Amino acid sequence: FVSKLPDVGTTIFTVMSQLAAEHNAVNLGQGFPDFPMDSQLTDLVNKAMKNGFNQYVHMNGLMQLRERIAEKAQRLYNSNINPDTDITITPGGTYAIYTALTTILQPGDEVIVFEPSYDSYVPNVKINGGVPVYISLQYPDYSIPWDKVKSKITARTRAIIINSPHNPTGSVLHEQDMQQLQDIVRGTNILIVSDEVYEHLIFDDLPHMSVLRYPELLERSFVCFSFGKTYHCTGWKLGYCISSPQLMAEFRKVHQFNSFSCNTPMQVAIAEFLQYPEAYLSLGKFLQHKRDYFQQLMQQTPFKPLASHGSYFQCYSYAHLSNESDRDFAIRLTREAGVATIPVSVFYHNEKDDKVLRFCFAKKASTLEKAVDKLKNAV
Ligand code: PMP
Ligand code: GLN
Repeated sequence: FVSKLPDVGTTIFTVMSQLAAEHNAVNLGQGFPDFPMDSQLTDLVNKAMKNGFNQYVHMNGLMQLRERIAEKAQRLYNSNINPDTDITITPGGTYAIYTALTTILQPGDEVIVFEPSYDSYVPNVKINGGVPVYISLQYPDYSIPWDKVKSKITARTRAIIINSPHNPTGSVLHEQDMQQLQDIVRGTNILIVSDEVYEHLIFDDLPHMSVLRYPELLERSFVCFSFGKTYHCTGWKLGYCISSPQLMAEFRKVHQFNSFSCNTPMQVAIAEFLQYPEAYLSLGKFLQHKRDYFQQLMQQTPFKPLASHGSYFQCYSYAHLSNESDRDFAIRLTREAGVATIPVSVFYHNEKDDKVLRFCFAKKASTLEKAVDKLKNAV
């Protein structure tokens, strides 16, 4: 047997969550909220189940849900999306990204990946025969070095993966970035996979620079979203992909023979819940408050904050505290201090170690307080 992913081990999120459980540590590693989701939405799922929405739904997703997503895209990004041809509901954002890459990659195709990169991208590229072309974001603000991007484009470049707000760093793309991207791909066959699962988790009054705002880009993009992040239910594994009709037709060829369709009662419930935009419009402020509270608590520790303008995550440097590798440091922090984090070097192919840890602040205030108390006493 020849492994298709010989270099791949167990994802860091599972590793650190397991270690946290073994040591009874506060888990600020894997990104998931520990506060309850909106009970109105769980009630709507119960209602949908009781009303008999328990069989296969259309393979492209419940039409009413796609219509509500199109309305949202219009309202937020002034984007004209056809729910019939441009949207497919998927079992989560990860699946949407994987399916997009499977749809477009031929063996030997190059894909530009910015590092640190979310850990599924590179294995997704490789398993489809693609060749990742790595570009490091610029430390410490994790911005994209566009000149470097230009210099890495070749005749084999098939796609560029972007992610804003960014996991693991919380950096966000700005208008100038989107213009640069647009200029670089204009007149080429390069496609974009845009991971926007944190679209609503953006802070400091910054606008989310969705690809949906740029019709010229959208034509060549797969834009991937997650309801798990939007409605605090990461375990539901439901998301969607938006693309042009031509690309989406190809995406659906792959999707129909993979999951075929997704959870029906949850789609019925979310379609109804999307009628209340306040639930997603209030999300940025809600999480920003948590980021600010966490940052304020962390001032009692010697860790040095890096900027986070979005996502569930805040990175801290410990370079002035220890020479240990970030992996060893994160493991020791879990064992000895009782706080689990994610070492950022795992998101680089060459394990580039800037001595930075990622903390998830999408937690109850009491969880954040408990974690910082432990850190305070240990470091
Ligand atoms: N992309 C990024 C950047 C993520 O952090 C995550 C984790 N939630 C996903 C995709 C996957 O989303 P989902 O759980 O909907 O598959
Ligand atoms: N996206 C989450 C994170 O970055 C984890 C999801 C997963 O465990 N695959 O922590």
